[in-house]
Parts: sequence; structure tokens; C-alpha cells
Amino acid sequence: MHFFRYRGKRFHAEGVPVERIAEEVGTPVFVYSHRTLVRHYKAFDGAFKRVPHLICYSVKANSNIAVLKTFARAGSGFDIVSGGELFRVVKAGGDVRKVVFSGVGKRDDEIEYAIRKRILMFNVESPQELGRIDCIAGRLKKRAGVAIRVNPDVDPKTHPYISTGLKKNKFGIETEEAVKVYVHARDNLKNIELMGVDCHIGSQITELAPFIDALKKTKKLIGVLRKEGIDIRYLNMGGGLGITYDTEEPPHPSKYGREVIKNAEGLDVTLIFEPGRSIVGNAGILVTRVLYTKKGSLKNFIITDAAMNDLPRPSLYGSYHAIKPARIKASEEITADVVGPICESGDFLARDRELSAVEPGDLLVVMSAGAYCFSMSSNYNSRTRAAEVMVKGRDFFVIRKRETVRDLTRGEVLPQGLF
Ligand SMILES: *Cc1c(COP(=O)(O)O)cnc(C)c1O
Repeated sequence: MHFFRYRGKRFHAEGVPVERIAEEVGTPVFVYSHRTLVRHYKAFDGAFKRVPHLICYSVKANSNIAVLKTFARAGSGFDIVSGGELFRVVKAGGDVRKVVFSGVGKRDDEIEYAIRKRILMFNVESPQELGRIDCIAGRLKKRAGVAIRVNPDVDPKTHPYISTGLKKNKFGIETEEAVKVYVHARDNLKNIELMGVDCHIGSQITELAPFIDALKKTKKLIGVLRKEGIDIRYLNMGGGLGITYDTEEPPHPSKYGREVIKNAEGLDVTLIFEPGRSIVGNAGILVTRVLYTKKGSLKNFIITDAAMNDLPRPSLYGSYHAIKPARIKASEEITADVVGPICESGDFLARDRELSAVEPGDLLVVMSAGAYCFSMSSNYNSRTRAAEVMVKGRDFFVIRKRETVRDLTRGEVLPQGLF
């Protein structure tokens, strides 16, 4: 449940009309609800209160430092996929002892930074990476905590770009090989502390069966590893729980919690979760202004000041985002493509969408824009990136200023020798 709704004719984020935010901050602007963020975090955390667990919010879903600080204050750990994300966690005052580091391509400098910061553990995705971590930890005279990310070969039945637990995906190590890697590390890699098993099978998963399948497979693996004398204390189930964008009916975290706890019975591990989307996805919206409307012979177009560079999910995955007017007015229903100003036919926020007719200057609200929207945004077409705002009760705060054209060329040079 989130705190975005109409009060009278005006759409509000908690106690603030989004029109007011657009007026003061301009558009396009991402608006997050503090109360929703905390509520969603607590719903997830609360689902596992009966068992030892650690929630590591997945930073890549939304990495604004004010969002991170909100979760840090609530007691969250963090799942990172780069040194840059670790920098953000540190900057936000997050607890580095609750950080896990995922990703198939960690660089030496990132590994070193993470070891120096004493993160909880690395989620290791290949034997070569494990070797690098051992080597770098040895050089720093430290031991690095490790879980091996196994690829359990289960089909999460989600978009192919965000399914990660199949043998054809680049992620993790296949279960049979993983045992050999653990044994090799036990015998040969003195700077590695084998702590856990990790498995993240994909994103926007709307049923429980794939998670439980993966859990059963990793459970078996943990049994095998313990027989080998490897002391597995953590089971990381990854993230991936889906949200409602349109008509999806994903399980509530409490139901997910019950099923996982039941199936992990007797395992004697601390469970780690890396939720991203399920916590932030419906805690954010994008507010955009209509620039023009246009009638083709086949289609109506609504051209907004937000584009695929601001909200890439529709063009990247063909995703659905609900779109609503910021102010309800009596106008006819039309079917239209909602598109941005970018010079690509793939630049759309919605296609063949039924909504009430709008005019230039009207504001539209794109729902479910808290996850994988701003964090995936770019400067394509030399568009400055949107501002981000956090609403708390009747107040709102700019948590990222709108970029200026100066930001666009920062770092670019016209070298003397070249001209
Ligand atoms: C992206 C990712 C997550 C978060 O996934 P959500 O679907 O946003 O919950 C968690 N763990 C890993 C390893 C990831 O790559």
C-alpha cells in the first residue's frame, strides 16, 4: 500500500498536491513518499521477524542517498553491485557491516575498497573472481567474507532481461560446479572466509513457486557443503519479489515470508534478502508536463517533457506504467501514445493507452516510478536529468537538484593539442 492518491480532484503525494511540487521544482520530477518507503521496508522486515535475518536493500533500484539514509535509519543493510554504490551507502551513513556485494564483474579497485571498508561479504559469481578476492585480501592482510552465488536453474517466469537464475544466464555458478569451488576455496584460499550461499533468480517475480524451488535446491547444497566441513551460516535468497504495475497480483511480503520460513525450517542460517523493487517501486511517481498533443491519421499522441532517458522501462522492457492526470477534469476519454521528445520511435511512456484528453500545460503522473527509473536514467539527447523530491507528511524536500546544462559537459575537454 502506498500514499499517493486523489484528494478531491488533485493528486497528492502524502499531504502534498503534486501540482505544487511541479510548480516549485519544475518538471519532469520524481516524487518519493517517505512514509511509503518506511512502510514497505517494515513490511518486508516484519515478514521475517520470527527468524534470524538481514534485509539488504538493493541499491541499484533507487540509489539516491536520501532514500538510502531512510533505509539505513530503519535498520536496513544494503546490496551493492559496484564501488560507486558502496560510496553512496557510506555517504548515506549506512552500516557497512550489513553490506553484501553482488555482480559478475567486480574490478580490483572495487574489491579493495569493499575489503577496506569491511563489508559483510561478497556474493561471488565465478571461480576467477574468487581468486581475485583471495589475492587482494591477502595483499591487504585481511580475510574476505564470501557467499557463492549459485545458479539454481529455475525459471522465474518474468521478462527475459530480468531472469537471472537459468543456466543460459551469465549469473552465478551452476550448483554442481559450486561444490567444487567451495571445496577448492576451503583447501587453498586462505584469505577467504566461506560464510554463505547466495541465489538471486530474477526480478518482478509474481509467484512464489520459483523462489521455493530455488530455496529447496540451495537447501540441498547447504547440506552437501556442511558434510564437507564448510560452515554455512547465511542463506541469501536475493531480491526479485514483484509489484503491481497494472493487473499483476504478486504475493504480499508476509506470505512470501511465511513460505520461505516454512521451507527453511531447521536450516539454522541467517536469511539474507535483497529486495529492491518491492520496497521502492510503488513508493515513487514521475510528474511530467504535457508539451503538445497531436492527432495522426492512425494515432493520437501526447508529447510530454519526460522521455525514455528519464523513465527507460517502457522502451527497455515494454513495461506498463499507469498514467493519471494530476488534476481530474471533465474531458473525453481518448486512446493515445504518451511519448517523449527524444529522437527515437522507442521513446514512449505508454502505447495505445486510454486516458482522459489533455491539453498542453497539463500535468500527468506516471505511477510505480520508484524503482529502476531514475537509477536507469541517462543524458541521451543531452537532456538534463530530472529532479528528485521526497515528501514527508505535508512537507517536501528536493533530494536531487535538477541538472543544468553545465552538468552535461562536466568532464569534457577541448585539448589544446587537438585544435
Ligand atoms: C537487482 C538485484 C536485486 C534486486 O532485485 P529486485 O527485483 O529489485 O528486488 C537483488 N539482488 C541482486 C543480486 C540483484 O542483481
